[in-house]
Amino acid sequence: MNPKLTKSEIEFWLRQTDPAELEKLWQAADRVRREHVGDAVHLRGLLEISNYCRRSCAYCGLSRHNRSLARYRMTAEEILDAARQIAAFGYGTVVLQAGEDDGIEAAWLADIIRTIKQTTPLAVTLSLGERSLDELRLWRQAGADRYLLRFETSDPELFRLIHPPVGGQTLSRIDILRQLRSLGYEVGSGVMVGIPGQTYRSLAEDIDLFRQLDLDMIGVGPYIPHPHTPLGKGRIRPSVSPAEQVPNTEEMTYKVIALTRLVCPEANIPSTTALATINRESGRELGLQRGANIVMPNCTPPHYRQLYEIYPGKACISETAQACQSCLAQRIRSIGRTIGTGPGCRQRRTTPCDTQSESAAVRSAPNR
Ligand code: SAH
Repeated sequence: MNPKLTKSEIEFWLRQTDPAELEKLWQAADRVRREHVGDAVHLRGLLEISNYCRRSCAYCGLSRHNRSLARYRMTAEEILDAARQIAAFGYGTVVLQAGEDDGIEAAWLADIIRTIKQTTPLAVTLSLGERSLDELRLWRQAGADRYLLRFETSDPELFRLIHPPVGGQTLSRIDILRQLRSLGYEVGSGVMVGIPGQTYRSLAEDIDLFRQLDLDMIGVGPYIPHPHTPLGKGRIRPSVSPAEQVPNTEEMTYKVIALTRLVCPEANIPSTTALATINRESGRELGLQRGANIVMPNCTPPHYRQLYEIYPGKACISETAQACQSCLAQRIRSIGRTIGTGPGCRQRRTTPCDTQSESAAVRSAPNR
């Protein structure tokens, strides 16, 4: 394992606001990124296959309580057509994401996964919420390679408040992440930055948990309030003192990306759409320069894309997949990076990670 930045050191950096000090953090993260995962930026074609959801998460616009949202589920033919287009673009992975939709029947999706695996070179990533062990096993047997399930916050009380349980479910997301690992998936998780009720300490715990879980993929993005949700409306207001509440800012998101890279040097870390949403000019690029190595271009057919409204004002909402491809390629090249080829799996090093010096670099910060 990589040498430890302690939780207190992580928290110290999360609270850091001095630009000269933060510059050291960005540089350390960028160096560790280059040494461990290189300059290639891997592209994962994102397909938002359904916006039906059985849950009532207080942060998410897909919540079943949001009655103002028209619902859709892509057909098998639409999914396969889009996957073929993703392969034709040269992306290495298709990500099938959705609300927690019981209408995504396990055997139906297994057939789609099998077809994608037989007819394209794509790696298949699933991001479908909390599904049963049997379903996860079936999809793995059908050829799915990876699964993304953010634990959203490591604070169990806050998690229950913003992510109410649904009938009969007993496993935590962290239990499910362990199941996914034992089924042989590459496992991804992550959190939102700045959810109401998230303290600096709990965010430091989140980053420490990324390390403990030895995640293959880690996605973090700013929390963006959705006006049709209880958190967005301020109906749920976790009580945290202003000095402890993490802000949902761009800079805080970069700090989390950079610290995540330092504690999980081999992980695949995307520069997320939520980040690009709060800084359309250069959010993607700055994420890539402060620890990230992945971008997930949205390849959902445009008429559905509008309806996958987890938060409002999402970047790139009306672009065609083609337009996204050239825009992102240009952005990646403009910062001197290359576009990855192949599936871009996590590469495990046989030798121990050598981030000692990087941790030391960010440890030598004054005024602690
Ligand atoms: N149903 C799946 C996929 C959800 S969408 C699941 O629950 O895993 C993927 C991610 O979007 C979520 O995990 C969450 O972290 C993020 N998200 C949801 N609402 C958001 C909001 N209002 N602001 C920022 N990110 C949000």
